[in-house]
Amino acid sequence: MPNVLEIKDLHVAYGKVQALSGLNLTVGDGEIVSLLGNNGAGKSTTVSTISGVVRSQAGSISAFGQDITRATPWSIVESGVIQVPEGRRIFSRLTVHENLQLGGYSVKDTALIDQRIAEVYDLLPRLKDRMRQQGGTLSGGEQQMLAIGRAMIAGPKLIMLDEPSMGLAPLMVAQVMEVITSVNQAGASVLLIEQNARAA
Ligand code: ATP
Repeated sequence: MPNVLEIKDLHVAYGKVQALSGLNLTVGDGEIVSLLGNNGAGKSTTVSTISGVVRSQAGSISAFGQDITRATPWSIVESGVIQVPEGRRIFSRLTVHENLQLGGYSVKDTALIDQRIAEVYDLLPRLKDRMRQQGGTLSGGEQQMLAIGRAMIAGPKLIMLDEPSMGLAPLMVAQVMEVITSVNQAGASVLLIEQNARAA
């Protein structure tokens, strides 16, 4: 079976700033892999390059045995590689339910979207209680749960989380990590970007 994710000798630069020089990384089927690093180490760049949002200068990225180095962000999403961005990036004026529906943007089968939303509400009952609440009025931890829930609607085979513990109280960090474990047990491999080495 091919690896879920395989990065070889990846180089990324923003103009004169070399953000990645020779990254190698593998995520095997069913694994949770954590990528640790200080501010500016290139962690977000790694995730955004895998997602196809940032372009690499050299090296290769493959997902499930397919080369995605030059693939478009939308085709990468369709292949099951889903990013939970740093800072949650939920839609603050939309309700919790609408945020989840938008997570299914790439899914054509609306019954499947509804089924996945029901599964997310089972896993995260706090979201169900707040389904009509505007995203921007959720607490930081609830917004992180929503960002993870939204990613799950796309049917991730690999979910990439960029510093999900950022700005959260220790109890909330523990809950978010539990949710990530549940997502993994439900069948998704995980790439977890963190500065919080203990949580990771
Ligand atoms: P943090 O933990 O602070 O989020 P990080 O490890 O995620 O850091 P990146 O955001 O990937 O680090 O940044 C890596 C380097 O690339 C930094 O020096 C940063 O200033 C630079 N960089 C990131 N994005 C851009 C951009 N759009 N334009 C120019 N430079 C950038």
